[in-house]
Amino acid sequence: MSRFILAFCSFIICLSCKNETKSIEALTAKEPTFAIVIHGGAGTILKKNITPEKEALYKAKLEEAIKVGYQILKNGGSSLDAVQKTINVLEDSPLFNAGKGAVFTNAGTNEHDASIMDGKTLNAGASAGTKTVKNPIDLARAIMEHSPHVMLSGEGAEQFATEQDLHIVDTSYFYTENRFNSLQKVKASEQVAFYDDTIKDSKFGTVGCAALDKNGNLAAGTSTGGMTNKRWGRIGDSPIIGAGTYANNNTCAISCTGWGEFFIRSVVAHDISALMEYKGLSIEEAAKEVIQNKVPALGGDGGIIGVDKHGNIAMEFNTAGMYRATMNANGDLYIGIYGE
Ligand code: ASP
Repeated sequence: MSRFILAFCSFIICLSCKNETKSIEALTAKEPTFAIVIHGGAGTILKKNITPEKEALYKAKLEEAIKVGYQILKNGGSSLDAVQKTINVLEDSPLFNAGKGAVFTNAGTNEHDASIMDGKTLNAGASAGTKTVKNPIDLARAIMEHSPHVMLSGEGAEQFATEQDLHIVDTSYFYTENRFNSLQKVKASEQVAFYDDTIKDSKFGTVGCAALDKNGNLAAGTSTGGMTNKRWGRIGDSPIIGAGTYANNNTCAISCTGWGEFFIRSVVAHDISALMEYKGLSIEEAAKEVIQNKVPALGGDGGIIGVDKHGNIAMEFNTAGMYRATMNANGDLYIGIYGE
């Protein structure tokens, strides 16, 4: 009998040990990490030129936007959803040069470019030169997911947007006094020189987002109105996969902002990924190399935001400032505007 009691007790002890091991495992099991980073454009953004009220407005909007993506990621949502929904918030704000706040072309129109890329499949979508699509990043995603193409432009892209039931608005929706005045200023100084500082500073506020979700999938997206006073159907780097946007689960997700012509020529977003993949550089080292050496060597300026497959963040720029924000899996929030 006593043998039976002994055996029974051992069995019970064993069972509870097993449960204990299990609960310790559950406690120490690493929660999959995730991270998100955004930009709202890079350029000559100096504290002395921005009122505290305006600075607070920008910070509040950046915070609102990044928290939308953060919540999606925290709830186990995809990096693609996080990127798209975060960019939607920035597109709907007149503060940034994307969607509602897009700059004016020489002809007095607003022409939007956008792109998105899925790091898991390397699938991508992009739209260029649309005038009536309220949220161009939605169109880029629809092109990626519901068309056999990567990039659509102009009227064809708008027709596709209508067929996809995307939100179409009257062109007057994109009128903002601020941007219209900027066009007049740039036009007035146009005679001075073609590639002068006016041109350099006529493109603030492009928006972008890069995210890593709990499944280890990276995604990046960018949306812009391009450059004030652009003409001849000019298209910048933002809708060009590899230049303004790139994502690859093996390396990183990148969104760029800056003088698009130089970002196209330097194939910035893909170059950062390639430096990581082929040379083993960290995201920070790769971003530094491209933004601080390669782009300025050609005469260009701007910046990038990015996240790698481990959740490491890069926010590199060679301009005075870049609107930016990032959040990690712990919910730590960083918002920056100036160089610091
Ligand atoms: N890269 C954008 C363009 O050249 C502008 C910007 O990022 O501010 O169209």
